[in-house]
Amino acid sequence: MEPSPIRQVKPKAEGWEQRKDAQGRPLLQFSSPKRGKPPVHLADLTPEERIAKAKELGLPGFRAKQLAKHYFDRWTRDPEKMTDLPKEGRAELVAGMLPNLLTEVRRMQTDGGETIKFLWKLHDGALVESVLMRYPGRITLCVSSQAGCGMNCPFCATGQNGLTRNMSAAEIVDQIVRANEIIAAGELGGKREGDNSAERVSNIVFMGMGEPLANYARVMQAIRVMIDKQQGLGMSARGITVSTVGLAPAIRKLTEEDIPVTFALSLHAPDDTLRDEMIPVNSRWKVDEVLDAARAYFDKTGRRVSIEYALIKNMNDHPWRAELLADRLLERGKGWVHVNPIPLNPTPGSVWDASTIPAQREFVRILNDRGIPTTIRDTRGKEIDGACGQLVVTEEDERAAALPA
Ligand code: SF4
Repeated sequence: MEPSPIRQVKPKAEGWEQRKDAQGRPLLQFSSPKRGKPPVHLADLTPEERIAKAKELGLPGFRAKQLAKHYFDRWTRDPEKMTDLPKEGRAELVAGMLPNLLTEVRRMQTDGGETIKFLWKLHDGALVESVLMRYPGRITLCVSSQAGCGMNCPFCATGQNGLTRNMSAAEIVDQIVRANEIIAAGELGGKREGDNSAERVSNIVFMGMGEPLANYARVMQAIRVMIDKQQGLGMSARGITVSTVGLAPAIRKLTEEDIPVTFALSLHAPDDTLRDEMIPVNSRWKVDEVLDAARAYFDKTGRRVSIEYALIKNMNDHPWRAELLADRLLERGKGWVHVNPIPLNPTPGSVWDASTIPAQREFVRILNDRGIPTTIRDTRGKEIDGACGQLVVTEEDERAAALPA
């Protein structure tokens, strides 16, 4: 294959220093720094644990089910509106099981009001974001699973500040409940005439702050609550996309869960040489191992895997890399993947830029010609830094969070 005439830009060549641990390995934070735990919430508990908690609060166990209906079906947290619960003990039940987890610091709207980015403050002052997007026939929420991220990817704004802490299952779920509350209040614009789809979040993407598989148990509990039809949000597992930069053992674990969520692998480079620099976790689990794990996910669930590929100018957008990506995917068979190239959203001060339009088109053409369905992914919310790799807490956010509500 002809070498690309384009000069290759790589993080190291641009002066980016990979942070290393004492053994000289790329610095990755897998465990959450110790901070005060968020208050336990209904959504952290199994239905049995909820019954036990209601009894602990001096009420019969079935009250927990009623409370779950208010929270998951009506998105209500206000005891005044829960008139089917006895007045006596109601406020205590709500305070004990639905403690406030997210305080809205601010929201920014774009796309004519069809996209809203929220900045939330957690109980300990940690800040996270979620992005709500209306599309024809569906409403998608991009949720955060960690405050910050420990995976240290150089092109990603979130990764530059390290991991503050893991979010609890309820903190993840509450982002959806709060979004539903806001949609029900008519605050998400853009509903078109004749669009009769339900006015609630229908799709979830774990593409906000954090690496979801590095917070595995809490993310799985949150997903169980999302899909629980009796005592949860009753969402479809297929509408939930779990993405990862490639924590292979956790992908294998997810495969065994028997919950057919959509699985997305943020690959971003088909060769270990570049991927070692772009995605430091590649130093632990190489491209072959993560692609094998992704293929096994398809074999077990029958769900086509999404390969996410941030197209970065002169870094990973060469035609030969598109060919190499096609080779590596086709080595593992046909019909099991869909590739989503995403033009990078450059963050302020970043040396990396989005690929040019001709380079994007060529990349897509090569993959499609090789029989791999490939479509450029929409980067909604770009103007408000609400697109992938851009959810990061800025100094301005910190200042806003410090102001009294
Ligand atoms: S790209 Fe994803 S995994 Fe990498 S640092 Fe950013 S949020 Fe973390």
